[in-house]
Amino acid sequence: MKFNTKCVHGGGKSDNTGAISPAIYMSSTFSHPGLGETTGFQYTRESNPTRDRLEKLIAGLEDGFDAIAFSSGMAAIDAVFHLFSPGDHVILGDDLYGGSIRLFTNIYEKNGVEFTYVGTSDLAAVQAAFKPNTKAVYIETPTNPMMEITDIRAVSNMAHDRNALVIVDNTFLSPYFQKPLNLGADIVVHSGTKFIGGHHDVISGFTIVNDESLAAQLRLVYKTVGACLSAFDSWLVIRGIKTLALRMEQHQKNAIAIAEWLKQEPKVTKVLFPGLPEHPGYEVNKAQSTGFGGMLSFEVDNEETAKQVLEGIQLIQFAESLGGTESLLTYPVTQTHPDLKPEDAERKGITRRLLRLSVGIEDTDDLIADLAQAFNK
Ligand SMILES: *Cc1c(COP(=O)(O)O)cnc(C)c1O
Repeated sequence: MKFNTKCVHGGGKSDNTGAISPAIYMSSTFSHPGLGETTGFQYTRESNPTRDRLEKLIAGLEDGFDAIAFSSGMAAIDAVFHLFSPGDHVILGDDLYGGSIRLFTNIYEKNGVEFTYVGTSDLAAVQAAFKPNTKAVYIETPTNPMMEITDIRAVSNMAHDRNALVIVDNTFLSPYFQKPLNLGADIVVHSGTKFIGGHHDVISGFTIVNDESLAAQLRLVYKTVGACLSAFDSWLVIRGIKTLALRMEQHQKNAIAIAEWLKQEPKVTKVLFPGLPEHPGYEVNKAQSTGFGGMLSFEVDNEETAKQVLEGIQLIQFAESLGGTESLLTYPVTQTHPDLKPEDAERKGITRRLLRLSVGIEDTDDLIADLAQAFNK
């Protein structure tokens, strides 16, 4: 089955009623036909028919063996880090989702996991960061919000030589544009809240793996810790995924046009979008994915312009989050990355002049007209 067809049919036939839209099994528990017998379901913290359908769908989209649906992207990332023990070392990209950094710093560092942050687009820097106790490399590509690109295959080869896992947060491109397991990654995580769900109406997360033993370890964490996605929210995500392919094409089409428009706006000093041929990660991204996505960041000439644009947009909304049908403009320095030390934020370029745009699926002309009026107020 091709990707677009999987988006619609990848969860399998619903049940024997003929219902085209799958049932929502709002049941916490399931009865047993007899002693030692089971329908395959016991208790919804462990599994649920609606969620099973979603998990099968996601595993298919990422070309994985097993996918698990969590109550948030953070819960999915947290489950992965339960695989590590005090004294283990993990190499982290140095430009990650702010909530991930908060999890690593405030929870896992305290519990004895050691971290080294490196700019993972620099392969020599990754190589130099390995230690005897390195258990994993954790990356985003493109990164949030600086849109840096990491060569997933090269990092995977490096990590596997040292028996370390590669974990990729694939939220920004979604499996429509990038399938890290096929490039050698061991674990893919997602905030399903973003492009996968796609409508700004549900919080969810996923882990996807190809290895049976890793799948079993993550399933144990899942049923033990209990951050499971509800049947209703699973249904919402299944519904969202039906249009994933269509949405991603429109997000990208709009993002390319907006990136080009921003380049000619005099108050814009830098446009960060991997779909621009001058982007330093353009070639690597092109080689390992089939698109550039719908996320871009840009820098303006001063803080006043940033404020003017944030307050001047009318169709585009000033909000955090990303990946939905509606375009959202974010101010990373105060919204998604306030926990960074000021000197780290400054070094990364997350300044008061940086804006991040999650380009929605509206008409291109309307989005550009909205930006134009905000810039020229
Ligand atoms: C939003 C996001 C997360 C966290 O996901 P939630 O669903 O908000 O818990 C993780 N990684 C990236 C890249 C994100 O954008």
